[in-house]
Amino acid sequence: RLEVQSLTRSFGGKPVVDGVSLTIAAGQVTCLLGPSGCGKSTTLRMIAGVELPDTGRILIDGAEVCGPSHITPPEARGIGMMFQDFALFPHLTVAQNVGFGLKGDRVSRAARVGELLERVNLTGYGDKHPHQLSGGEQQRVALARALAPRPRLMLMDEPFSGLDNRLRDGIRDTTLAVLKEEGAAVLLVTHEPDEALRMADEIALMRGGRIVQSGSPYHVYMKPADKAAAAFFSDIN
Ligand code: ATP
Ligand code: MG
Repeated sequence: RLEVQSLTRSFGGKPVVDGVSLTIAAGQVTCLLGPSGCGKSTTLRMIAGVELPDTGRILIDGAEVCGPSHITPPEARGIGMMFQDFALFPHLTVAQNVGFGLKGDRVSRAARVGELLERVNLTGYGDKHPHQLSGGEQQRVALARALAPRPRLMLMDEPFSGLDNRLRDGIRDTTLAVLKEEGAAVLLVTHEPDEALRMADEIALMRGGRIVQSGSPYHVYMKPADKAAAAFFSDIN
């Protein structure tokens, strides 16, 4: 479970994230949706802990990881992350990439790697290297790697935008199924309304550093908060 309370961040005196609050339950996918430059990635980076907020609090499973009196470093937050470039280690095999963040003995690590490769339909790919894989296959390795240590929270920043159009829908569906099986709280950043409508349990619509509307995809699509929100959804078919 993720709770974000009144997060703010300015760059050069200009507020980029301006009082963002969010709650995501375990097993739930929330899409942070909005146009380019509205502050989505900055919000995500503060939750990850690689950027510090000016003010606000962040709690993961009830524990404060960022607040006035306490800051937990990124690696101790129990978070999985996935970005647009999958950033696989080129010199490691698929299995080594997936097992990279795992602790414990060799047998239990191998079992977890095997389980995840099966989930993302890459059984038999463990000994290959990233350059031998297609973009879609690399995306699924990155997903398996991020989920391997059983993060309580998964942060994803435009994880499908580098993929071929023809592949994207199938990979979105596979990703969603794997995320649901693993049961983490998921925050997925996107600027594409159709992606949010397809994947989200809840959409948080962001503009100018603020969340202007949040609710189910149906609600946000059918009852946009204002003209700008309606216009944002209007060019999807
Ligand atoms: P996109 O959809 O294009 O990825 P975004 O919603 O993720 O956009 P952010 O990356 O959060 O937007 O950036 C929001 C604004 O903050 C932009 O105007 C950006 O230039 C500015 N910004 C982000 N990081 C910094 C920084 N480190 N220093 C100065 N300005 C920054
Ligand atoms: Mg961004």
